[in-house]
Amino acid sequence: MRNLQDKIPGASSFKYGEFVRSEVATRLGIKNEPDEKQWQNIELLAREVLQPVRNKFGRIKITSGFRCEELNKRIGGSEFSNHCRGEAADIEPMEKGVTLFEVLEWIYENLEFRTVIAEFFTRDGWIHIDYRVGGNIKRLRLRDEKHKYEDVTMKFLKELYPRKTQNNSKSERCSRSYWRLFGCLKRLEICK
Ligand SMILES: [Zn+2]
Repeated sequence: MRNLQDKIPGASSFKYGEFVRSEVATRLGIKNEPDEKQWQNIELLAREVLQPVRNKFGRIKITSGFRCEELNKRIGGSEFSNHCRGEAADIEPMEKGVTLFEVLEWIYENLEFRTVIAEFFTRDGWIHIDYRVGGNIKRLRLRDEKHKYEDVTMKFLKELYPRKTQNNSKSERCSRSYWRLFGCLKRLEICK
């Protein structure tokens, strides 16, 4: 057990509660509670990946962290989702002017990880990242309207997204009401 208000040792910008918070779980009365091994995986992910990203880019929002099996099932996540092991998080940069693309590129070039997925960057998207000791093969994948979890290279991503999209920072995205609406709809969808 962990106290949800406590900061994570070695990743003090994050509290345990940020990894288990889920509107769906609250609404459905699902107790989204990791076991000891899952907490350890969450701590590792926070320390090795999320805190370095936080140090580099400022505030980071965890839009989906741990999911118990029932929660994962209810939101249509993949059967073997790494979110269920506490090894994965979906994140968005919150600071003005910081783009999803530059965070993704920095993670790819500077950190150890198993998979990062660029999810719906053409719209108000997010980054999925997972970390596993002994399995950090640095796989880069793409998911949007036209690509369903395809393995890609960074070069491919740079060419795919026009510069405008790469510079499409949080504040710019939020200034358009369409994107705000899409953001609400998006939260009903979940990456695998
Ligand atoms: Zn995810």
